Amino acid sequence: MPAAQEPKGAAADKKPSQRRRRGGKKHPKPDGDQRRREKQEAPTEEAPQEPVQRSRGRRNRNPQKEPEAKKLEEDSDVLLAFGALLKTNDPAAAAAHAAYERHEDQARFIEDARRLLAMSPSERKAMVQRAPPGMAMPPPPPGIGRSPPGSPRRVGAPAAPHPGSPRRNGPPPGLVPSVDHLPPGLAALALEVAAEGNPPPGISRSPPKPTDDDDVAAALSALISGNTPEEPPPKPKKKWEPPRVHVRRGGRVSFTAPDGQKGPLRPRARLDVSWELRVDEDVEVGSRRDVSVGLFRVGAPTNDAAIVAKQGKGTVEETGLARGAVAFFAPRAAGAFVFRLLDPEPPGQQQKPKSERPKASSNVYATSDKLDVVVRTHDDLLDSLKASLQQLEEPGRSRLGALQQLAVVAETLPASLAPKRLTHVGGRSGSSAEKKCREKLRACLARCLDELAKNVPGPLTLATRRRADELPFDVDETEEDALTRERAWSVLSEEDEVAARDAFEQQRVAKIKKQRNDDRRARDVHAACRRLCAAFNGNSASRQWLESAAPEQARRLDDVSTRWDALLEEFWPGGADGVAALRRHYDRADSFFRPTHQPSAQQHGFAWRALDDACARVLPQLFPSENFFKRREEVRRRVEACLNNADVLGNGRRLVLRVFGSSANLFGAEGADLDMCVVPAASEEDTELSSPEVCRRVGEALESAGAKNVQVRDTARVPIVLFADPQTGLDCDVSTHNPLALRNTELLRAYAKIDGRVRGMAYVIKKWAKIRGINSPSDGTLSSYGYILCVLAFLQTVPNPPILPSLQRLDLDWPNPKNPDRPPPERVPHPFDASRDVCLSFHDPDKTGSLADLREIAGRNRQSLGELLALFFRHYAWDVDYRNLVVAPRTACVLPKANKAELDCWPQNPHLAIEDPFETHYDVAHVLKYPKHQLVRKEFMRASKLIDDAAAQRVDPDLVLDYICEPLPVPDQVM
Ligand code: ATP
Ligand code: MG
Repeated sequence: MPAAQEPKGAAADKKPSQRRRRGGKKHPKPDGDQRRREKQEAPTEEAPQEPVQRSRGRRNRNPQKEPEAKKLEEDSDVLLAFGALLKTNDPAAAAAHAAYERHEDQARFIEDARRLLAMSPSERKAMVQRAPPGMAMPPPPPGIGRSPPGSPRRVGAPAAPHPGSPRRNGPPPGLVPSVDHLPPGLAALALEVAAEGNPPPGISRSPPKPTDDDDVAAALSALISGNTPEEPPPKPKKKWEPPRVHVRRGGRVSFTAPDGQKGPLRPRARLDVSWELRVDEDVEVGSRRDVSVGLFRVGAPTNDAAIVAKQGKGTVEETGLARGAVAFFAPRAAGAFVFRLLDPEPPGQQQKPKSERPKASSNVYATSDKLDVVVRTHDDLLDSLKASLQQLEEPGRSRLGALQQLAVVAETLPASLAPKRLTHVGGRSGSSAEKKCREKLRACLARCLDELAKNVPGPLTLATRRRADELPFDVDETEEDALTRERAWSVLSEEDEVAARDAFEQQRVAKIKKQRNDDRRARDVHAACRRLCAAFNGNSASRQWLESAAPEQARRLDDVSTRWDALLEEFWPGGADGVAALRRHYDRADSFFRPTHQPSAQQHGFAWRALDDACARVLPQLFPSENFFKRREEVRRRVEACLNNADVLGNGRRLVLRVFGSSANLFGAEGADLDMCVVPAASEEDTELSSPEVCRRVGEALESAGAKNVQVRDTARVPIVLFADPQTGLDCDVSTHNPLALRNTELLRAYAKIDGRVRGMAYVIKKWAKIRGINSPSDGTLSSYGYILCVLAFLQTVPNPPILPSLQRLDLDWPNPKNPDRPPPERVPHPFDASRDVCLSFHDPDKTGSLADLREIAGRNRQSLGELLALFFRHYAWDVDYRNLVVAPRTACVLPKANKAELDCWPQNPHLAIEDPFETHYDVAHVLKYPKHQLVRKEFMRASKLIDDAAAQRVDPDLVLDYICEPLPVPDQVM
């Protein structure tokens, strides 16, 4: 008979502690092969003869033990194993358990359980399906006897819970084993197994059982008759999306201060908010249209967290607009805010506590301009501090928001508020309000500084970078728990044990994910604290006030600055001397890394010329050879034929492969990969192209055609297959639905043609980024595409006069006069996101014949490539305000991050952010998390400093490009 009768073998005979040691790790992951091998290698003569006693060999047995006690021990083993089996959602075990709840005969239950445990999972499954209707349990397999009716209860009559049992929920009626004769440890275990609500650690809860008797009977008979009730089809998993506000438009909301003040306002300033909203055509003139006007922090990702929301009562006018006005006060805390126009809340909701209200709709009809609230007077300061500190201390409110608020105050405190006068806050020097405020500020800063001292520069980030399986197995599990868990598993069959281990593993991973989220939250708080410290250090008014209000904290802030040295070293390796040298050259805080001693313009001119010469030497080697396009075209044709032969689109539909990326955008170097995209030959619907299925078929076709290293990434945002061409060894990728990439390739190509310096800069920057290890999106750094967008944005905004226009803003008829009959550029649905549309139009000089004009304009700028490169590095090292601005070649001007935060929910962090030219809601640099942003910025700074050093003759100017593009040192070989 079946595998059930086979012995478990030597591995099973080991004590749990021995089993763990064998794995080397504390709790090794189950290695199926190893376990199978151990089981096969087990000497059969040592195997217990009785099939159902598989668990007995696991424990030191006492030969002198009384037969009754021995029996009890066996029964407890059976219970343990059954409990574990039940937790693996085995249907036969669930049926047996449910049957027991009806008949309540424990002896019978134990025999049933024993029989089930003696079977393999497939036998159990077959048995459940074979079982005749109405039969509570199938007949026992040969060799296993059913206990005679009326046989004594071996695991006790209903008994009082064991006093030592840690049960939380009571066991099911009648399933409480009598444990009086069991050794204490075992007794507790047996009770735990029996107590459904408290399984042994590591074993998940059984699925909820129907409570109603009829349901139990129906479920049972269906299960045993093999007609398992059809499980409802699994719900399609909803893809997680970040919370987002959808701006529907069709309305307008604006605010004015009654005194006509335009600039930043003071806390609690009075505001008149007016709004208008287009209504449906059939709405009567003069009828009411109500809205809700909410005041939000800029970029609040949902509409749930309004600082204050008011009902706006409007009247429909003949123009088809409803208009209204509401009065507001600016928030008490400094910061950036907006008004949003929303549908009104249903009546009665406002009285309910926030937690009971339904989630607010994510639709917004309009958002106002940014409302900046700043501190101007002593009273403002007191109000603002009080608001922040109150938020910091109130349970349930965002600590992060409070720290950010405080940082805004410290950043913007005007110099006119001299420290001496500040001691008389609000003219109420020594008032209890002022004292309280100072105390709170001290406490709050102390907490921030503790946080910083603990975490700079980032054990937290290290933890989050570690993969789940590298983290400790289970930090909370005690040795005893682990032993119990291992014991419960050890009495299961191999498959059941694997299932139990899997269930446990899932729980563990879920726990680790939660831990990671906690890490992330902690890191956010840490970042906010760091911003706060930088703010106090960067604004002399705040710093002076801090010194007078909280001298102890001011001193500690200096200590923290020393901790920043660690960060500095990260930016500029070279040990303490390097840091000291850097400190001499660079200022503190916000301008912490900014060079204070610039070489003269003359010296710079000298370095730029040297850099220019170096570029002229290097570029011919970087530009591709004549064969570049020819060879790539051959590969494209071959792959296209292969995919068509394999009929990857099905039904004989033909496809065309189109090349995008550096093989088509004029920025390609010899070693670049070949990016291709599937396009249906006939102009038919191509929505299914994005399906993972097509991607998998492409992967299979390429694999069978002999492609090397085929990797199918069918769950990526854009499904893609990576492979190496077997004939040329060229790295290639085929994406199945990527129309936007084709379009942005055309855009980049158009820019490349306008001026030779565009290509020159892009080639040098790409080479530098690759060599310095900051050009790998899979490692969290920026793609080549991202760097090229940075180059374009730079050439549009920094050189004087600018070299490039925004081709997306340039009129299609330029340089001819605007054609008034031309319809506005069309917006088309986004290829993957039905809720958005995109505008793919741009001024293509090739098509409009304006290339010569564009070249002529670009030529008015006489700056050399060397100078532009130097300015480029300096711009991204020192000049870009990463916290507040977005790199956006679409607009050819700086784009406030607050706008992207408000309209597209971009985080307002200090990382580099790059707006995609067509998918304007998409941040091409979103892969850059803080440490990698630092790494990239450090490289910009390194290059910029080397050029400055060349200008000051500290570095040989002829070699400066070589130094800038110096390969990273190879890490020491791990022996
Ligand atoms: P390389 O020579 O390094 O291959 P490349 O110009 O091909 O450079 P890639 O970064 O490989 O640049 O990108 C190829 C194409 O993929 C780009 O033209 C762009 O359409 C798309 N792409 C790459 N990275 C991104 C991104 N982060 N977001 C959106 N599209 C991207
Ligand atoms: Mg590429």
